[in-house]
Amino acid sequence: MQAGETLVLDTSQSLLQDGPNPYQAQVLLAVPMRVGERLVGLLIADPRSATHRYTAEELSLAEAAAKLGALLIERDRLLREREEARANELALREATRQMDTFLGMASHELKTPLTTIKLNLQLTQRRMEKVLREDSGTVEQRNKKALLVLDQLAHTDHQVDRLDRLVNDLLDVSRIQADRLELRLEPVDLAAIVCEVVEEQRQAAPARTITLHLPVNQRVPAFVDPDRIGQVVTNYLTNALKYSAEELPIEVGLGVEGNLARIWVRDEGPGIPAAEQEHLWERFHRVPGIEVQTGSGIGLGLGLHISRTIIERHHGQVGVQSAPGVGSTFWCTLPLAP
Ligand code: ADP
Repeated sequence: MQAGETLVLDTSQSLLQDGPNPYQAQVLLAVPMRVGERLVGLLIADPRSATHRYTAEELSLAEAAAKLGALLIERDRLLREREEARANELALREATRQMDTFLGMASHELKTPLTTIKLNLQLTQRRMEKVLREDSGTVEQRNKKALLVLDQLAHTDHQVDRLDRLVNDLLDVSRIQADRLELRLEPVDLAAIVCEVVEEQRQAAPARTITLHLPVNQRVPAFVDPDRIGQVVTNYLTNALKYSAEELPIEVGLGVEGNLARIWVRDEGPGIPAAEQEHLWERFHRVPGIEVQTGSGIGLGLGLHISRTIIERHHGQVGVQSAPGVGSTFWCTLPLAP
């Protein structure tokens, strides 16, 4: 066969007698199908008669059919390869486009707080020098100026926090990619974690209405990494704050369903079209047309990806219920500790 020879095999011969013969063939014609030196298939014919003698015409017909078949197989293979190459090229182009968009966004996002920090520091420095150099004015007046400097420092601190969050998100994503996201599991009360996150955001955004629903007089025990779960709730809640208008309320809830705990964050913001909902959790994905309404920063499209990874690593699930113009409820479930 490797040499490309056509074989007529009599299955009753002792050499072939013990071999597999699923179709009970008697005299087999086996024609190798070759493309160049490569064997790509085998054309087998069985005349269903032990006494059949193949004529020269039959043999050349079978060989011609085998040649044609081989060419068709080869053509299919080449077409498939070309399709694969095309798909790879498209995927590569898409990955490069995403990377370009990401680099543009990341540098903008990191640059904006940096510029503000730099300006604030220069301003603070000048004001501080002025306060220190001035002999005139009452103590009260000088204190007032010093308070202004402190305000400026608080603002700078806020910008540093924002930078810190962005860099942490980038670090988390690279840890996820390298499968090195570590969890420090411990027994906790989920109610305490949710409460703490809500309290933090109420302080950060005092103008907003954030209502909290907790099970009455009940601890919600789980064996989780409290910082990481806090990170997920913070991400859901800051998104709700960020993407809905300032006057719209937000609700946060924790409940128990069988042996699962469910945490949810509901807003009355823009809502997300159904076709976008499954993509929300992908790295760098941001829904076209959804704009930041309040607060600072546009984000890099990483928070939900990180949140899903954290929850799945805890054997839980994430999801969203949302409709454009109505709002969104982002939720996650976690197994309760026994
Ligand atoms: P980002 O830092 O861009 O907010 P996320 O991964 O947290 O990244 O969210 C991904 C995208 O999902 C957001 O850019 C936004 O388009 C959409 N999104 C997330 N939360 C909400 C929400 N509560 N309402 C409407 N859209 C949302």
